[in-house]
Amino acid sequence: MTLKEYHRKRRFGVTPEPIGRVKRRSRRCIFVVQKHNASRLHYDFRVAMSGLLVSWALPKGPSMNPADKRLAIRTEDHPLEYAKFEGVIPAGQYGAGTVMVWDLGPYGSKDGPPGEQLARGKMDVNLQGTKLRGGFTLIQTGIRPSNSSQKQRWMLIKQRDEYADASWNIENPRFDDSVLTGRSLKEIEENGPNRKSRRGKVLARTRAA
Ligand code: MN
Repeated sequence: MTLKEYHRKRRFGVTPEPIGRVKRRSRRCIFVVQKHNASRLHYDFRVAMSGLLVSWALPKGPSMNPADKRLAIRTEDHPLEYAKFEGVIPAGQYGAGTVMVWDLGPYGSKDGPPGEQLARGKMDVNLQGTKLRGGFTLIQTGIRPSNSSQKQRWMLIKQRDEYADASWNIENPRFDDSVLTGRSLKEIEENGPNRKSRRGKVLARTRAA
């Protein structure tokens, strides 16, 4: 796990994204989901381990419905600092478009160290976010690519627990806003004011983790 590809793809100073570095000694167990209005709207799911954020792109976003199997395409590792990144990546830059911190919180894992679970191609995590709660399984699918330029395909599936919600619809307006600043994508794009400060609450929870 490394930030080489993350750094190679970006021109810092042009993009406001953090440069960051791997923090091997970090024991922070946080996850973040960023809503990313790039050439195609998608969600990025990132889990902290080994001092960075292991990342997947979810074309349809996560679901709280255990009947949904959501495609998750493994993408380059991101720095831990990225969990608080919200803003606009300028046109012409990698991932150009607006990024929202859609959900953020601590996570737990019972089934051994997350790095080992990842290497096995199956991870069980317990998310304690604002929008996402409870157990989730990430499982690698299909043939493992021999060529590293091919993206690994995984599925993100909600486990059946008290938080499961068969009526989940990510397009529900109550899921529209940033958990960090309360802003909509449009307000972030226009650099609009923070509507409600949930920042303190969310940060306190991730620190407690
Ligand atoms: Mn993205």
